[in-house]
Amino acid sequence: AAALDPETRRLTEERDVLGPAYRLFYRTPVHLVKGEGAHVWDADGTEYLDVYNNVASVGHAHPRVVEAIARQASLLNTHTRYLHENILKYADDILSTMPDELNRIMFQCTGSEANDLAVRVAQAYTGGEGVIVTAEAYHGNSALTSKLSPALGTAQDLGLTMRMIPTPDTYRLVIDGKPASACTAEEFGGWMAAEVRKAVADMNRHGIKFAALLADSIFSSDGVYPDPVGYLQPVIDTVHELGGVWIADEVQPGFTRTGDAFWGFERQEIVPDLVTSGKPMANGLPTSLMAARQEVLEPFAGSIPYFNTFGGNPVCMAAAQATLDVMCSEDTMGNAKRVGAIFKQAVTDLMPAHPCIGDVRGAGLYIGCEIVKPGTKDPDQAAALDILETLRAHHVLTSVCGRFGNILKLRPPLVFSEQDVDWFMSAFTDTLQELGL
Ligand code: PMP
Repeated sequence: AAALDPETRRLTEERDVLGPAYRLFYRTPVHLVKGEGAHVWDADGTEYLDVYNNVASVGHAHPRVVEAIARQASLLNTHTRYLHENILKYADDILSTMPDELNRIMFQCTGSEANDLAVRVAQAYTGGEGVIVTAEAYHGNSALTSKLSPALGTAQDLGLTMRMIPTPDTYRLVIDGKPASACTAEEFGGWMAAEVRKAVADMNRHGIKFAALLADSIFSSDGVYPDPVGYLQPVIDTVHELGGVWIADEVQPGFTRTGDAFWGFERQEIVPDLVTSGKPMANGLPTSLMAARQEVLEPFAGSIPYFNTFGGNPVCMAAAQATLDVMCSEDTMGNAKRVGAIFKQAVTDLMPAHPCIGDVRGAGLYIGCEIVKPGTKDPDQAAALDILETLRAHHVLTSVCGRFGNILKLRPPLVFSEQDVDWFMSAFTDTLQELGL
């Protein structure tokens, strides 16, 4: 802490009041005060490139969203026990982006709450309790969802009704003697479906009835595994055959992020039973959703009242509406596809000169870059962390994901431009050179 400037040191020390559970990024924490598009500024006026933020989905401080929030806040903000246009208009507009089967929607404040509700809905519908997640998944911080989040590192405390299946690691897995990267979608999906079958058999042996698979279709915290497209079909078919439902967690792949479709499940051409999302939905206001097929929702909603004081309030709905409108008018899906492809190719092109890059994968503006020990697939977390710190020194912000914390997670606001890619690539090549990687 001695190397910190006085203001950074003061704020860092004052954070003691928040207790030790909160973790900051970087050895020298970043103190941000302002943002615009994919750029943020610290208290000293230094500009940074934001290659991490999927909360400011349509860009930091987007004027249309700011204006919508201010306008509604100056009129009325209240809970959801009264009629209001905003929630109904938004419900209509967001459901129109989904397949017709998904025709009911409820609003919350966080992704955790949305997943928590979806699990309860799935349990009421199936009469089961058991939930399957992948080995490095993160689905929330509530009492229920934290037990469905192995990424928290609390696997030994996980609930008795939860089962884990392996990460669908297309880089390292070998299936029946064949590298996963060489498998067809059908073969890879068949392997994953068999894992679901094993997990349900184990539940049943313990007297637990299967309720749901809770999974995001790009397996973001597992380490970013969006391909091959189609591999989830056999998995979801098996979930249904075994009497369960699929809760598609769209916190990460939803809202045009993958560039191929508005929703991650749409990219996989599957209609889920329940959909949850949050983070990118209202450009930073705490807003989340759970969409459902009516028949799936009915057993829960028909008997248990649900009240969420802030969920769906007029200001949050105004922010969500403006965010959705901007996604359409500025074609964030097209941008994610176009700029994402350029970005992924540019990082891939570094591989021959920098053997620490073992794999580059992703969809749209969600790219995972594996940092490994050269010539092997051994994860190199120390090198990945050195890269993060050096990128920060070059005023580029990002982070890592995956079991070994060695996968650079490149997930900028959806308005990331080609110039932003150039800025990143120049900082990244300098970083690799400086580190001798
Ligand atoms: N699901 C996924 C896939 C997430 O990435 C997150 C948050 N990172 C959540 C759920 C929980 O969302 P929240 O932090 O809004 O509760």
